[in-house]
Amino acid sequence: MVSDQMTHERSRCRNCGFEAPGGDDEWRRITVPKLGRMTQCPDCGSTDVITSR
Ligand SMILES: [Zn+2]
Repeated sequence: MVSDQMTHERSRCRNCGFEAPGGDDEWRRITVPKLGRMTQCPDCGSTDVITSR
């Protein structure tokens, strides 16, 4: 079974340019009150992360 849905999405940090597959273990997951779950860059700690296909 190959799930290729994960590999199609790339997430990129707009602050430092760090890039990894969306949902990858490399990204940190943080929970922010009111905003909910966010993806955080493991490199610079920014939450300014965009996901594109
Ligand atoms: Zn970053």
